[in-house]
Order: sequence, then structure tokens, then C-alpha cells
Amino acid sequence: MSLTSVTELQTLIRAHIDKSKYRPEIETVAVACAAGRVLAQDITSPLNIPCADISAMDGYTLPAAAEAGSRWQVAGESAAGKPFADNVPEGGCVRIMTGAVVPTGGACVVLKENVTVEENSIVLNQAARAGDNIRYCGEEVAIGNTVLQAGRILRTADIMLLAALGVGEVPVYRKIKVAVLSTGDELHEPGTPVGRSDQVYDSNRHTLMARLNLLPVEVLDLGQAADDLEGVLHVLDEAAQQADVVITSGGVSVGDYDYVREAVLRLGAIHHYKVAVKPGKPFVFGKMLNTWYFGLPGNPVSGFVGFDLFIKEALWLLCGATDVPQPLRFSAVLTQPVKKSPGRTDIQRALLQQEADGSWSAAPSGAQDSHRVWGVSRANGYMILPCEAGDLPAGTLVTVQPFTEAFL
Ligand code: AMP
Ligand code: MG
Repeated sequence: MSLTSVTELQTLIRAHIDKSKYRPEIETVAVACAAGRVLAQDITSPLNIPCADISAMDGYTLPAAAEAGSRWQVAGESAAGKPFADNVPEGGCVRIMTGAVVPTGGACVVLKENVTVEENSIVLNQAARAGDNIRYCGEEVAIGNTVLQAGRILRTADIMLLAALGVGEVPVYRKIKVAVLSTGDELHEPGTPVGRSDQVYDSNRHTLMARLNLLPVEVLDLGQAADDLEGVLHVLDEAAQQADVVITSGGVSVGDYDYVREAVLRLGAIHHYKVAVKPGKPFVFGKMLNTWYFGLPGNPVSGFVGFDLFIKEALWLLCGATDVPQPLRFSAVLTQPVKKSPGRTDIQRALLQQEADGSWSAAPSGAQDSHRVWGVSRANGYMILPCEAGDLPAGTLVTVQPFTEAFL
């Protein structure tokens, strides 16, 4: 079987999901709880922002542009929430506060710092131009503007926009159910002492659940399954009845005890890939009835990288997102030589650092084998080394991708 490139597999997964036209049901949530959820309907503005012509400053509104030295009689006051009931009189002015409606006839606002108050009049210390310090009705958002589109992963700035438009409850896609299973006779549950030296703590399932908890999904913990076809078949069959997505760890390479692929195959369809990526060559995905299936290799670092490369975007798409943001990537200079064999894209765990001149440097965060969990924890990003590249000397410009968690 020839190797599939990273971008080929990403495109394939995307195409399968697009083709299914899968969309979760819609529910509404309070606007403050909608960040990180996927918007399910376009939002069209029911009002103007600003809602009227509004003063941007504390000062005086005049009926026209005016010269320095001109004098204006103060006719009254307009405060936020307490507008002036009349027009701005000709030859007069109205004292006005930030956020207050500019009364009809107001052409500009002069800052209170730029006038001299004399009894009930003001004298301008500098000229005023028409339009100064007025925020015009609808200049930011006009009634009928489509401000957000269905499929948007809502950000906190969107919450500001929605609340400013008076939206109290937001239509979002419901959280999809994602079930997680780890496989392996050697696995042992963290929090309990291991009895034998051949037992390995199940880090993958807990890592997956932690990562899923950052997405708008409901996590179903299926625990561990032994390397046994009947057992795995039973768990997956049950999971496929309840979950929208099942993710397993382990048992997808071509080894004697790798029953997971066989089990998924019996329950549905499966695509098996040898991906031209390091770490994590084997990757499978498929469907059991209406449940999507992703199978990660057991080596912890391979699973970690595989989730980033192939599962995260797929989950966002299944959550209803239409325009999934791509990871932040930029160039950095290698501060040391890096070993690499041509033929696979290396996703190396790295330490990225911004230098005094603003440029970025990168170095591996230690050895790069796929069991090196401390090295991922020490890293603050990936270096993405192209498929065809061999060993790279210090000074080479490489593409890096910071871990968003590592930068505030
Ligand atoms: P596998 O993909 O099942 O052949 O596993 C490859 C390697 O990953 C083996 O050394 C396993 O012990 C290890 N491994 C598999 N599953 C896990 C897991 N859930 N947590 C930690 N290590 C694992
Ligand atoms: Mg295994």
C-alpha cells in the first residue's frame, strides 16, 4: 500500500464529511454560554448600531461648524438615557454627555476641555468641524445586515456583537456525542497501582477526553477494551448506538493482536491509511451505521499528533462548523541541526522562541520517538518538516505551529 500524504488524508476526510451533509440538531443557549459553540442560523441585525446619532465625548453640541472664539448660549442638556427634548436652537448649543443622543440639529460636538464656560454660554478655544465627535446612526451595523453566518465557531467578540444586537439566546448546533475507547491488554487505569512491570497506564484515553472537553462535544467514556475481537465488537456495537463519533486508541497497525479494524469492518465500512507522516503512520477512519469512526495508533505521541492533524477539524465539521480556522503557522529558524529522513512529513515537537529582533527560532524539545510524552509536554509547538526534506542544518527556515495552550 502506498503512503497517503497528510494533505491528501485531510482532504479525503473533509470530502467524506461534506458528502454526508451531516448537521446536528439545533438548540438555543444563553448568549453568554455560546462562545465556542457553532452558530446554527444566520444572524441578521434587527437594529442599527449606533441606534441613533450619539455623542462620543462629554462636551457641547452646536448646530453648525464654528470658528475659535465664537460664543454659544447653552439651552439645556442631553445625557445617556436622558435625551434633550428639543432641537438644538440656532445660535445656541446643548451640553451633552458621552453616549447621549445628539438632539436634532446638532452638527458636531466640541469637547468640554476645548471651551471656556462663561455664565450660561461657552466660548470655543478652537474651531469645530461638522461631524466632530458624533457616532452616526447605523455606521457600524445597519438593520438587515447579516453579521454572522451559520457554521461560525462563535468567539467571545461575537458574543459582544450578539448581545449588542439584543440577542439573548443563540441558535447553536447541539453538542455531538463523542465516545472514546482505548484498547490493549497491557493498559492500566491511572489512579490505581500497577501490579506488573508490563502494565502501561492508559494515557491516551484521558488525553483524548481532555482534548475533547475543549470542543463543543459531549464525551462518552467507554473505558478500556482487551485485545479481543468479541470484546471490542461488543463495545463498539453499543457505542455506535449512542454516539455520533467513536475514537479508539491502539490496535490499528497490522499486528497479530489488532482486532479494532476487524471489529469496525464488521459493523460498517473502514478506510485504512498508511500516512506519510511521522509520528503516526497508521490511521483509520470509517463509519458504523451513522456513527463516524476514527482510529488512532496506540503510541501516545502518534495519537496526540494524529488528533491534531486528522480528527480536530473533522470534529468541528461534524459539529456544524463550515469555515474551520486553520492552525496558526509561521516560519522560524532552526537553532540546531535536525535529523530527518525523506519520505514522510515530520511533525516534530519543538521549543519555539521569539528573539529580541522579533523573529522566531525553533529547536526540537528532545528526542522524537513516539513514546516520549514528556517531550510533548515540554514543547510549546510543532515544527512541520516537509515530506521530501532530509537532515536540516542549523539556520534552516522551517514552518512552525505554536500550541495555542502554551501562549496566553
Ligand atoms: P498499538 O497501536 O496498540 O500497537 O500500541 C502501540 C504502543 O502504544 C504500545 O507500546 C502500547 O503499549 C502503547 N499504547 C497503546 N495504547 C495506549 C494507551 N491507551 N495509553 C498509553 N500507551 C498506549
Ligand atoms: Mg495495542
